[in-house]
Amino acid sequence: MEAAMKLQPAPEQGLNDTIIKTESLTKSFGALKVLKGVSVDIKRGEVISVIGPSGGGKSTFLRCLNLLEAPTSGRVFFNGEDMVATPKKRVAKYRQKLGMVFQSFNVFPNLTVLDNITLAPMLELKLPRAEAEAEAEALLKRVGLLDKRDEFPRRLSGGQKQRLAIVRALAMRPEAMLFDEPTSALDPEMVKEVLDVISDLAKSGMTTIIVTHEMAFAKSVSNRVLFMDDGVIREEGAPEDIFSGAKDQRTREFLSKVL
Ligand code: ADP
Ligand code: MG
Repeated sequence: MEAAMKLQPAPEQGLNDTIIKTESLTKSFGALKVLKGVSVDIKRGEVISVIGPSGGGKSTFLRCLNLLEAPTSGRVFFNGEDMVATPKKRVAKYRQKLGMVFQSFNVFPNLTVLDNITLAPMLELKLPRAEAEAEAEALLKRVGLLDKRDEFPRRLSGGQKQRLAIVRALAMRPEAMLFDEPTSALDPEMVKEVLDVISDLAKSGMTTIIVTHEMAFAKSVSNRVLFMDDGVIREEGAPEDIFSGAKDQRTREFLSKVL
């Protein structure tokens, strides 16, 4: 359980300090302008849902946040440091601080559940095997997968694989977690077990940014909702304001289709 404790921010860190901030972020692919100036200020411990129509730039935004995509212009700050201007080596370190979970279950099929989790901490954080395994086991216990420790991913259900993907990201001791439609590829009966894990994590104080079409989840778990459309944040606010009183016409149209 000690490993789980380490995931939580120190108690004196409230919602007041900014962890990630973007300024006028743009991203183009050739002539296609996908992000047209996105500025956000994310506080430590915030849980942010990003909603909006397909093609609006949500995935590109997440990928620019952890610099998997190089922004065309604009800035990305992490704990006050401009990550766009920083040397490559520091960017690699930065990326370790952001856990990312995708729609497709990102696990290594040829490694056991335990080895999936311990590989990166041993290689990149240089943890001794025993410590990496102890943390991995604590995390597996936390998401209800400890009995799958020695299985290979092909023996896991989609929901179990996605919980493994989450644990694998957590094992790197991230400061924030980014989720890109983590339940979109799941059979309906497995959606809840994955959302429950994300919800617990968010409640434990982990800074969380999640692109999702699960509106009930966005409403109940996040403290801020961003509506992204056509490369900009059209509207943002507390979930109760967005879901029952969106001011922007496009936001209202979108919500009327998905609610
Ligand atoms: P969303 O996640 O909101 O559905 P995306 O960020 O995936 O939106 O995509 C926004 C737009 O950017 C789409 O038109 C998509 O085709 C385009 N796009 C995304 N990635 C690339 C890429 N690597 N090269 C070219 N176009 C891309
Ligand atoms: Mg997407």
